[in-house]
Amino acid sequence: MNSDLANLIELQHADTEIARLKAEIAALPKRVAVIEEKLAGSKDRLDKAKAALKTDEANRRKYEGEIQNLRQKISKYRDQMLAVKTNQEYRALGTEVEFAEKEISGFEDKILETMIDVDDKNGDLKRAESDLKAHTAEIEKEKAEARSRTAEDEKALAEWSAKRDQYRSGVSAETLRHYDRVLTRRGSAIAEARDHKCSACQVMLRPQVYSDVMSNEQIIMCDSCNRILYFVPTVEADLANEEPRQLAPRPEADAAAQ
Ligand SMILES: [Zn+2]
Repeated sequence: MNSDLANLIELQHADTEIARLKAEIAALPKRVAVIEEKLAGSKDRLDKAKAALKTDEANRRKYEGEIQNLRQKISKYRDQMLAVKTNQEYRALGTEVEFAEKEISGFEDKILETMIDVDDKNGDLKRAESDLKAHTAEIEKEKAEARSRTAEDEKALAEWSAKRDQYRSGVSAETLRHYDRVLTRRGSAIAEARDHKCSACQVMLRPQVYSDVMSNEQIIMCDSCNRILYFVPTVEADLANEEPRQLAPRPEADAAAQ
């Protein structure tokens, strides 16, 4: 096999691995970021649940304080009622007492309202606490995995990069320039010729070109996509066996066998 071609096949393999590893290394922090976002969401829910319960508690104390004040007022009015001299004054104090009692009943309703959904709110709090705990454990695990995976990937990347340099040094400058140009434009720069076609762009190769490619002795480019073509003998043989109509007649071989 042409040595440029042999090195290019290895080079393409190295370039593919390098691209895969780089993509994986870049993707890992994003995976962690997604879980960190979930964690922030759980923290937020927990804070809100705590704040809601605290507000209820503060309101309840406030209403209880108001009720206390109103009760004291009522008791004062009642004392005054015992001491008044006119019916008019007595009725006026009676109205004040009624008014204060109505206010007390209003505050009692409000206290009930804060207590009605206290169970729901406690449930929210418990759920938020357990979610936060689960997400915290998950993120620690995920972060540890990401760290070790990144270290492995970086080691493999360094190994592949060294191999890549080695393969590149084994390819002539002109061929390498062509490889780099096509790789940048198309994402791959070499392609297997199979079944009389370029396996990358599927365009049929002229018989002479195909036969030259089959020898693997020259740098031959696909007319259509410009990728450098190579041939893998076993694949062609397997394909030929699957589709006997493509087999060339072998009368001599048959005759020799008999
Ligand atoms: Zn092609």
